[in-house]
Amino acid sequence: METAALKELFIDELRDLYNAENQLIKALPKMAKAANSEELRAGFEEHLEQTKGHAQRIEQIFQTLGEKPTGKKCKAMEGLVEEGSETMNEDFAGEVKDAALIGAARRVEHYEIAAYSTVLKFAEMLGHDEAAQLLEQTLEEETETDEKLAGLVDEFTVDASSSKETEEDDEIAGENQKKSRSARA
Ligand code: FE
Ligand code: FE
Repeated sequence: METAALKELFIDELRDLYNAENQLIKALPKMAKAANSEELRAGFEEHLEQTKGHAQRIEQIFQTLGEKPTGKKCKAMEGLVEEGSETMNEDFAGEVKDAALIGAARRVEHYEIAAYSTVLKFAEMLGHDEAAQLLEQTLEEETETDEKLAGLVDEFTVDASSSKETEEDDEIAGENQKKSRSARA
């Protein structure tokens, strides 16, 4: 494998991640606002602060490389954020809404985990030890965040006797079906 080409790929993927982190810095406050539980809201706010740090770490890496981190758009993150905001606008409430938000957030974390694992490997292959260290710290925070989010869902319980809610859900489902039928017509 040619070093110059691998370095180019490394820089390209870091630029993509830099843009992804900056998209998240805009999206996370909205997710925090939409959260029902205090714990989830606080979790999003904490991850917002971490995310700012992730962007700064990438800036730091670019500084030592003598390059600029800007100039790429992460289309994958754009799509994930868009789906997340669709989720927020749906008629869910309470824990169900939180479960939906957590699902959207975990999709983001998994994307980041895959991307950071990749650039970390590249940094190691290129012998950029400092960059590798910084990327490993971020990867750890993304992994912890994903695990915390998963843990919150484990605390939810399904109330099988909530028949009133079920009737309401059926009504909403009926309405939605009508809406989608008329949208298709
Ligand atoms: Fe991040
Ligand atoms: Fe993250």
